[in-house]
Amino acid sequence: MSIKVRNLTYIYDEGMPFENRAIDDISFDIEDNDFVGLIGHTGSGKSTLIQHLNGLLKPSSGSIYINDFEITQKDINLTEIRKRVGVVFQYPEYQLFEETIEKDIAFGPGNMGLDQEEITKRVKASMEAVGLDYEKYREKSPFELSGGQKRRVAIAGVIAMDPEVLILDEPTAGLDPGGREEIFELIKKLHRERNITVILSSHSMDDMAKLVKTLIVMNKGKIEFMGNPRE
Ligand code: ATP
Ligand code: MG
Repeated sequence: MSIKVRNLTYIYDEGMPFENRAIDDISFDIEDNDFVGLIGHTGSGKSTLIQHLNGLLKPSSGSIYINDFEITQKDINLTEIRKRVGVVFQYPEYQLFEETIEKDIAFGPGNMGLDQEEITKRVKASMEAVGLDYEKYREKSPFELSGGQKRRVAIAGVIAMDPEVLILDEPTAGLDPGGREEIFELIKKLHRERNITVILSSHSMDDMAKLVKTLIVMNKGKIEFMGNPRE
């Protein structure tokens, strides 16, 4: 799916003396099936932008279209956005809350009105896709897992909804180099096999340069660069 962002501005605490223009009038296009890296210093606006792309935040002004469907229109049903765009947030721990991994991953598809058989099918397929053996892990608590495994569960929960855009906010934060490499390999595999548009945020230029097709560099709520990472 393609994404179109037009004159997007977001101001935290608008109207207060300490208001903060976290996103400052940005416009850009992402093509269908692109693999995009979003980098920028801490506080540059990456997470704020990502939260707009799945409807968690509403813009102060401007608009966002997913395949020409405006997700920033008034009174939008959030399920209409979540069906299209899946986000693994910066702290995926907060996305895990059920007592078993199976229930956690089933939560999203369960809200989509699917029948039980289809839900179980999707849970199995997405656990296998992220490298978690279904029989071995389904009854385990998500809280007993390592940081890397928690990320895998959070990713499985998102892909179980079969989105056409997959966004991951700092998916490797806090992992060691081996764990980082594994998560990047997993994301590459999902992009390849599922034909989805991927957006990945990170602080680290090194990680991004060899991974992504398109790079977006954010600085103080503006887009400083967008294009081929080799530039
Ligand atoms: P990081 O790399 O640290 O995750 P980021 O690029 O994701 O940073 P954001 O979290 O989007 O940056 O923050 C952008 C700006 O908005 C910062 O100035 C931040 O302090 C501010 N901000 C973020 N969340 C809130 C909030 N809930 N209330 C007020 N200001 C916020
Ligand atoms: Mg962030």
